[in-house]
Amino acid sequence: MSAKYIFVTGGVVSSLGKGLAAASIGCLLESRGLKVNLMKFDPYLNVDPGTMSPFQHGEVFVTDDGAETDLDLGHYERFTHAHLSRENNLTTGRIYEQIILKERRGDYLGKTVQVIPHVTNEIKNAMRKVASNGADVTIVEIGGTVGDIESLPFLEAIRQMRQELGRENTCFVHVTLVPWIAAAQELKTKPTQHSVKELLSIGIQADILLCRTDRYLSREMKSKIAAFCNVEERAVVTAKDVGSIYECPLVFAEEGVDALVLKYLHMEASEPDLTAWKEIVRRAYHPADVVSIGIVGKYVEYEDSYKSLKEALVHGALAHNLKLNVTWIEAEGLESNPADPSARAYEQQLAGFDGILVPGGFGKRGIEGMLNAIRYARENKVPYFGICLGMQTACIEFARNVCGLRQANSSEFDPAAEHRIIYKLRELLGVEEMGGTMRLGAWDCVLEPGSLAEKAYGKTEISERHRHRYEFNREYEALLTGGGLRLTGTTPDSTYVEIVELPDHPFFLGCQFHPEFKSKPLEPHPLFRDFVAASYRNRQQRKAGAESTQAEAHRA
Ligand code: GLN
Repeated sequence: MSAKYIFVTGGVVSSLGKGLAAASIGCLLESRGLKVNLMKFDPYLNVDPGTMSPFQHGEVFVTDDGAETDLDLGHYERFTHAHLSRENNLTTGRIYEQIILKERRGDYLGKTVQVIPHVTNEIKNAMRKVASNGADVTIVEIGGTVGDIESLPFLEAIRQMRQELGRENTCFVHVTLVPWIAAAQELKTKPTQHSVKELLSIGIQADILLCRTDRYLSREMKSKIAAFCNVEERAVVTAKDVGSIYECPLVFAEEGVDALVLKYLHMEASEPDLTAWKEIVRRAYHPADVVSIGIVGKYVEYEDSYKSLKEALVHGALAHNLKLNVTWIEAEGLESNPADPSARAYEQQLAGFDGILVPGGFGKRGIEGMLNAIRYARENKVPYFGICLGMQTACIEFARNVCGLRQANSSEFDPAAEHRIIYKLRELLGVEEMGGTMRLGAWDCVLEPGSLAEKAYGKTEISERHRHRYEFNREYEALLTGGGLRLTGTTPDSTYVEIVELPDHPFFLGCQFHPEFKSKPLEPHPLFRDFVAASYRNRQQRKAGAESTQAEAHRA
């Protein structure tokens, strides 16, 4: 059987949820027993998003092989079992980098190197490479919006793919917008018509239209769009806004998207089994209670910078049938007043959270605020989860406030620090690699029996993904463990410290890796699951405590 492709494009405006749409289609096909793979092309010129600011681009999603990729790949992994790598996310910058390398090497044998065919060939080869990994269907998302100059070579490449592979092997899905115009009290189809026409002008006839809208499209509306856009009426799909993103596959299933895709691709598959997804969505809409987590970070005003983190917390909450209430706290706002360092004004801001989390981040800004938050969690026995930077700051806080090492710091924040609890070990080891000296991608880790981590994972050997430069400095190990900190996870050769924990605390754990990248709604990450559980216990205990105080006051 020749390879089958679904191409997902977007029109009218950005942020219509193309990535989620691609992931949801993947999920549906998997639920029918098919093997899927997904990839994304990004039209910008950066070679990868690794160097882009989280404010510009949102989270950088890291794959096992250490690729720094677009956050849509996070959706792909959360909704399917596809194994993604650097081959699954390519930018214009990367494609050109490859071409220029070949050109300099003389691979083009004196030919003029052009967008067509050289760039388009490079794009097509990248798709074929991903498709050759044994998937029944490869879903290819084209970033950007139809009509952008930047995305033209990608659209031309997928046009050629249909030409070469035939209609029965390619399916074009276009995600578009059907806005509700309040003044007219009407849904408007014109933007969709224009977008489909724009696509047609470059030779692509959409097969399926996923119409983003806030309400169901009527039969008449669908038939009008179908007529103007040259698609079957049942291929006009209401992609209605949902309260939980995990409902998307169910909405698509109800609209028959999977059956239609199979029909267009001339494929047969078993009936979908969506039982587990339905249960997750049921929990999302009918939680038994809530749990509130305060996230103290640097990029909090732009939620996309912590996409996987937020989802991993949601998964942790769903595991206990809880609704997650997240409060994003700007770390800078928790800093002490230099005029009166003993005043702990920040405590008021932190009181009331069931759990506190400090996520990953780079640079010095906000660090003192994070240290205050960690101190508060440690002293008040509020469950604490520190991820990457949140582990490093937990070690610094402990060294300063428990071990009395006032000058403890990371060489990232103060290169001249007297006590570099956190430092750049890789540089000292002379490790040189792409992207500077980052430790990227999957690393094995051995857990200490009896630790919180080992209890969570239920095993002693794990693998997790990294993205950082600095490490725990083992020269300070004796001092910190003497003060009570436990090092409960290290790389098998024990070069790197991967997890720290505090005993005599309901849950205090910092990890050097990013567990959020491996959490899925149906397979919540054990650390998030247990952190949420500890936070919820804290909530219930505080509630019980408050009730008994009230009862006592009543009696008195
Ligand atoms: N800035 C820290 C480092 O580079 C932490 C990075 C992170 O949190 N991802 O080591």
